[in-house]
Parts: sequence; structure tokens; C-alpha cells
Amino acid sequence: MAPTKYVFPFEQGDAGDRQLLGGKGAGLASMTQMGLPVPPGFTVTTHACRQYYATDQQFPEGLGAEVHAAMKQLEEKTDKVFGDPEKPLFVSVRSGAAMSMPGMMDTILNLGLNDQVVEAFAQATDNPRFAYDAYRRLIQGFGEIAMGAEERRFAEILEAAKQKQGATYDYELTIKSLKDVCDKYKQVILDDLGVEFPQDPMKQLEMAIEAVFGSWMGKRAVDYRREFKITPEMCNGTAVNVQTMVFGNMGNDCATGVAFTRDPGTGDNVLYGEYLTNAQGEDVVAGIRTPKPIAELEREMPENWPDLQKVRHTLEERYHEVQDFEFTIERGKFYMLQTRNGKMNATAFVRTSRDMVEEGVLSVEEALLRISPDHLEQLLHRRIDPSADAEPIASGLPASPGAASGAVVFEADDAEARGRTGEPVILVREETKPEDIHGFFQAKGILTSRGGKTSHAAVVARGMGKPCVVGAEDILIDDREKVAVIKGQRISEGEVITIDGGSGAVYIGDVPTVEPEFGPEMKTLLGWADESRTLGVRANADTPEDAAKAREMGAEGIGLCRTERMFNAADRLPIVRDMILARTEAERREAIEKLRPMQKADFKGIFKAMEGLPVTIRLLDPPLHEFLPSLESLLLELGSLRRVRDHIGASKTNRESIATLIEPSLKESLPPLEQLGEQLSGAEGKLVIDALIEEKETILQTVRDITEVNPMLGHRGVRLGITVPELYSMQIGAILEAVAELTNENVDAVCEIMVPQVTEPQELARVNELVKQVRASVEREYGVQLDFKFGTMIEAVRACIRARPIAEITEFFSFGTNDLTQATFSFSREDAETKFLPQYVEMGVLPENPFEALDIHGVGRLMKLAVESGRAVRPDLKVGICGEHGGHPRSIEFCHTQGLDYVSCSPFRVPIARLAAAQAKLREERRSREEREHPDYPFNVM
Ligand code: PEP
Ligand code: MG
Repeated sequence: MAPTKYVFPFEQGDAGDRQLLGGKGAGLASMTQMGLPVPPGFTVTTHACRQYYATDQQFPEGLGAEVHAAMKQLEEKTDKVFGDPEKPLFVSVRSGAAMSMPGMMDTILNLGLNDQVVEAFAQATDNPRFAYDAYRRLIQGFGEIAMGAEERRFAEILEAAKQKQGATYDYELTIKSLKDVCDKYKQVILDDLGVEFPQDPMKQLEMAIEAVFGSWMGKRAVDYRREFKITPEMCNGTAVNVQTMVFGNMGNDCATGVAFTRDPGTGDNVLYGEYLTNAQGEDVVAGIRTPKPIAELEREMPENWPDLQKVRHTLEERYHEVQDFEFTIERGKFYMLQTRNGKMNATAFVRTSRDMVEEGVLSVEEALLRISPDHLEQLLHRRIDPSADAEPIASGLPASPGAASGAVVFEADDAEARGRTGEPVILVREETKPEDIHGFFQAKGILTSRGGKTSHAAVVARGMGKPCVVGAEDILIDDREKVAVIKGQRISEGEVITIDGGSGAVYIGDVPTVEPEFGPEMKTLLGWADESRTLGVRANADTPEDAAKAREMGAEGIGLCRTERMFNAADRLPIVRDMILARTEAERREAIEKLRPMQKADFKGIFKAMEGLPVTIRLLDPPLHEFLPSLESLLLELGSLRRVRDHIGASKTNRESIATLIEPSLKESLPPLEQLGEQLSGAEGKLVIDALIEEKETILQTVRDITEVNPMLGHRGVRLGITVPELYSMQIGAILEAVAELTNENVDAVCEIMVPQVTEPQELARVNELVKQVRASVEREYGVQLDFKFGTMIEAVRACIRARPIAEITEFFSFGTNDLTQATFSFSREDAETKFLPQYVEMGVLPENPFEALDIHGVGRLMKLAVESGRAVRPDLKVGICGEHGGHPRSIEFCHTQGLDYVSCSPFRVPIARLAAAQAKLREERRSREEREHPDYPFNVM
């Protein structure tokens, strides 16, 4: 067997193998092979990184020799020598995994400099300032990353040097100061770590490669992979790219920049980016100096502008994707340092998808497949209400769209701590660094006072779809004191601000926001998705307003209308309570009949909003106690009322003393305090309180009577329908009367009645009897022929197992995967998600939270069984899903593979589902039968 090869020069690597070369390495290989001006270099593979971990963090055998050989070749190619004072070769060492993890891993520049080389280099370039600046950057970067020195120690030395010299910026430091800084840096390394900064360049290189390997398992990178669910199958180990240095900081004919082939914020077909003259790449990304817009380069360095334009077109033609690239101009010569797919917000993705199809760069299929459906969610972000009449106090660069309000926090740790409690927070910093990542996860938005649109804050926020404003220079931040000062106004930690990442505006206070709208590009793209998909998309909606929203979002029907939501409306709840508290049959009927016209009106509204499209109405599902106050609150209230009663007649009855006795929740049931004070002194007061005590005691008794040990598995759903048939009868009547009335009004109401919690065909047979009776009477009364479907939720395990006889009675199934997941795992969702599920996922016991991503091999298998059994007796059985998984892209793909007819999700997720359904179909077409039947195929139920 040939020995494993760990090192590939850029001209030799397989540019298509991102898994082996990492994204950056593959990009460098491909650009080199396309003939773009890439400084020569080589890639150490991800395989070497994995071997490094497999062998107790030792360089795998042969790697050292390969690196040496590759360096030799590099010397030959560049006619320079690594470590030679006369013709010095310098290299950068950069990480690069298969998936981009911006800023999560490490990079070290200027390797090859040492005490001797720097001096010679200073003379040779006739630019000692530059040479010593490069050296101090190396010592600092290397010291921190490869040796583990503290960043703070270097920062203090640099700051002290600037102060001593009265300089504001790094580049104002004199040569003498820079030399001094270099010496002090080396001394810090020796003092703190007890070892010298290595003078041997080869030693530097080996340590740097090892440090990059090490950063793969660093906390930042591990947290990032966990947050973005990056599994080892997707990305395993980092590659290391060793590349000849080119310098953007050798003088004013040098520059460095980061650019996108199109605007990643709007999708506009213009070169977009920023650059700095006389600077190194990290200065642009770190946001230390505010860079200039790329368009200025046309004026400032006109001879290099055509290079940029050419690269832009070449890259898009090659990658069929917007590219994000880094370049450096060294003494007028243009170099490409990296390219990768541009991270864009959803607006830009949608816009470029449409444009690139129209320009012939992409096919419709490619356009549909390149957008992650979850990414579309950004478009569902809110904007500042244009009528809000709020004046921004400051503004910065709009870096990631969406508006967010929250309490100001100045530290990532505070963002994390407060955010985890559910408090909305905005992380406000001068600039952010990769180690702030945990704060990003919990913040609603990010605001920085420095940096450009390619700064760390901007890139990371865009990737996460969080609102972000950067470079708001009017904001002075003192994170030690935890205050920000904007135009003289102090904002302390905890005060609420609002940011608009779409416009860059910053507001004091909680400014109202509005829902987003879809633009024409989105409509075009979703139109293509609709033409491509075979899976239907419906919405879960309970009100006419939600139904109208769903329709606007492209829903093809309502897959779940939960009638209990209507019971909870303020005007209904007392009637529902009367129904539950009724002591006689007649009282119960009276309450139920009061609900009928209300429900009928609701249903008519929804049918009208969805005219011509199916509306699935589910009969009452939850346990009745959900409509009653809790035992605890009743006991508290009764205690409080009894104390008030005892107080009455006491000598000092007055408003204030009574106020202290009243539970806040009682305020609604009692007359206002002003009146109460008066009333309570008389007999009337006692009557008020006594009546209330009696009422509460009755409720308490009922609550006690109907309290169940495990209500979610108790008297609910169809069980309630069978034991209290007048309730379902009323609902069925209200639904069918609504249909009948609309039919007479020439409105096409397409009705489906659905029964929840079914476990046994007999249950359905009985409800079906009720339906038949009600139907006959409504048809008689209204003189119409009713047309509707009768179906069931499939959300109990037994329903999946008994799907065959169930399908004999019903015309459709709708999977309630929320309950089905609980039932399959025997987990209660609330308990699981707050107690052990996060740990399960973190420890890898379960790959994901099964309440978010459908558990294919468990719940999915039951679904498969139900679909096959049901269709065996009723081939035209309609099957959908209305659990939350119906809006989750990969779960949608699973539903497509199982031949479901539709998914149903919340109205806002409808566009996501339309795209996911199209992608499911397109991906299926791309896969062969063998691939689909292969055990590794993720949707193959095992
Ligand atoms: C379900 O169980 O998946 C479902 C849609 O019903 P609910 O969430 O109302 O229990
Ligand atoms: Mg359910």
C-alpha cells in the first residue's frame, strides 16, 4: 500500500475534495489551477489532523518529511529561502476545515522572520518600519496561538509604547518603538512561558501547524460545531494551508481587502467589499481601522481595478455561486489569497438566485438547491414600524437585517447569562472577537462601534441571521464601567435599545416593529419551487387572520385548525367554564349551545379566508382542566378572600389595608378598590366577598374532581368526545352549519373534520356516527347536500399500529408528531427539554432534539407503517403531517420520501416548507434507486 500522502501543493490538490483539503485549501487549489494569481503554497490535509488526534497529538509519521519537501519546492518556485537573511521566504499558516467556521480557528502570519532575518529584511526592503511591524505581529500571533501566551500581555506593551510616543494608531509607532516592542514581546514569552520565541523558522512552522490542529478542538470551534450541528460526517478535522506571504503593508502601492462578487446584503450585482491601503489582512477583518469601500479602489489604484473585475467573473463562472474572496496588492501586483462561497443574508440569496438564473449563470434547479430553507427565515424577520415615528440616536452600517430590541449588555458572558433566562439582550461592544461567540448565540442583536461590514461581528451575525449594526462610531463604549455614551446620553447596562440591521439605525427604548413582506424575487423563486415540488404545503391556523396570512404565504390549505384556541378567547372562557362547571345536563347543554354560534362564526371566517382550499378542523383536544385556573392559584385566591372577609368589620377597614390582602389575580374579579373600600364597610361588601368565595370554592371542587395524575394521557381528545358527546356534536354542528350557510352564499368551503388522540377504530366509528346524525339534520335544515371529509390525527403509537382498520373508517390521516414523538419516546416534551434533552444531545446520546427534527428511525418508522397499512386498504388515503416537524426542512424531506400528500406548519414557515419540499423532490431526482436504498441514505427507515 502506498504511504498516505498528507501534503498537496496547490497545483496538485483535488480542488473538488473539500473534505480532504478543507474549503480554503480546495479554493486555493482550484484558483491556482484556474490560473488566477495565487501565491504558491501547499495544504496539509484534514486526514493529517485526524491522525494527529488518533495518535495522541503527535505528528503522523512522514508528515514532517513531507512538509520539509514541500517547503523545498516552495523555495524553488519562489527563488527564496526559508530563514535566509538574503532572500527570505515568509509563509502564512491558516486553518481551513471542510465547512467554513469563520474566525473559529487560528491563523499565523509572517513565519520565517527571526532576529537575524528581520534586520536583513529591513535593509533589503529599505523599510525597517514594515519589517519590524511584521516581526512584532509574528511574535504576538505565534506567541498567543502556538505558545499559549496571554493576548492581554501583548496588548499592554503595545498600548504602553503608543502612550510613550503619544501615538494613536499602531502605524504611527517609530522604528525604535517597534524594535522595542519586539524585544518586550519576546521577553514576555520567556517570562510567562519559560521558553524562548523560536528563532528556527522550521521549528516555527511545525509549531504553527500543530497549533492549527490544536485549534480544531479549541473551545470556540467545538462550541461553534455544536451550535450549528456540524457533525463529523459533515466536517472532520481542519486542513492547514501554508502559503507564501504577500504583503499589503509595504507602502502605499500595497493594499489588502475582502470582497464579494455581489452585495451580500442586497444581492445587487456589484462588486462589494472593503480594503485598506498599506495594511495586512487581519486589519480589515478585525475592524481595527475602518476600511474604505471597494469602489474607491477604482480611483485609488486604477491599474488593479480590472484585476478585481476579472476575478469576480471568473470565480462566479467557476463556482456557480457568489464568492467571498480575499486579495492583496503587493507593490502593484494583485494576488488572490482565498475564495469561498459568500455567506449572504436571505434577501441576497433570493435576489442572486433569481438574477443568476436570468443571467444564465445558474439553472432553476441550482437556484432552488443553493438556498438553505432555514435561511429564508431571515426574511421573516421584523422591521421597524415605519409609522413608529422613532428618531434614531445613532447609526452605523447595516450588517445583518432585522430589527431587535433588548437590554444592553457589554460582555458576551452577560449576554449569555441574561439571554439564557429568556431576557432579550443586545450585545454592544466596540468590536467583537471569536471568543464572544457564546454571547452571539443568546443575543437578539449585535451592535458595534467599530469595524466594517466584513468585520467579525458582521460576518457571524449574518451567518446566524441575527440583526446587526456595526461601526456606529458615535457610540462611545466603556465596557469596564458598563456604559455607552451616545451624543452625551448615557446608556447603562440593562437599558433597552432597538437596532435595525436593515438600515443601521439605533434607537433608545423598545421601538415597535412590523412583519416583513415578500418581494418579487422571493415570489419568483417560490413560484419555481411550487412548480418543482409534489408535496403539498398547508398551514396550521386557528383564526381567520392567521388563515389569511397563511394564504398570503402560499399555503394550499389549513392542515390543522385547533378549536381549543377559540375556547380560550376572553369572551368564550367564562362560557367554557360554565360548561365544565355545570351541575346538570341541562346546564351543560345551555353552555354548549351558547358556544355554538361563536364557533360557527369562527369557522365561517376561516372557510371564507381559505375559500376553495381545504380546511382541516380538529375537534376539541386538550383536557378540560386547561380551561380552569390552577389549583395553586385558586388556593391562593381563596386564602386572600378569606382574609379580606375576616378583616371586614375590623376597626381599621380601609382601602390601603385591604389592598395588602388582595392577591393580584383577584383584581379582575373584584370591583375597583375605590368602590370596594366603601362597599366593604357595609353589608354589601360581605356579600360580594362571600359570593366570590362560593364561586371559587365550586371551581376548586371541580378542579379537584377533574384533576388527573397525567392529564396529557388522560381524559382528552376523542375520549372526551365520546364521554361528553354533546360537546363534539355541537362542534360538528357548528362546522357543518358554517359550510351549509356558506354553500348557500355561494362560497366554496372545503371542509375536513379531524378527530384527535385516536387509538382505536371503535372511537372513530362512534364519532363518525355523530357526524352522520348531525349531517343529516344540517342537510335537512339548510336544504343543501354537504360535501366534506372525515379523518383522524395519527398521534398515538397504537393508531400507527392499528392504521389499517382506522383507514377503513377515515378518509385522511394527519400525523400529530408532537404527541407521537412524546409517545414513541415516552418523554414528556416540557420535562425532557428542560431537564435532560440538551445533555443528551450534547453527549451524543441522541443526534438532535426529536421534538425539532423528526426522529426518522423511531417516529418515522411508525409513520411509514401507518402510511403503508392505511393505503393498503384505502389507496387514495390522504396523508399529511401537522406536528411542528411539518415546518422543519429535513423532516419535510422525510415526509416527501414517505409519499405524504402535504405538510402543515405555522403560516410563517410556509415559504420555508415550499422550498424544502421542492428541494426534497429535486434531490430525490438526483439520487439513483441504489442510493435511496443504501443503508446510509438518511431517509431510509431502519
Ligand atoms: C401534534 O400532536 O403533533 C399536534 C399537532 O397536536 P398538538 O400539538 O395540538 O397536540
Ligand atoms: Mg397532538
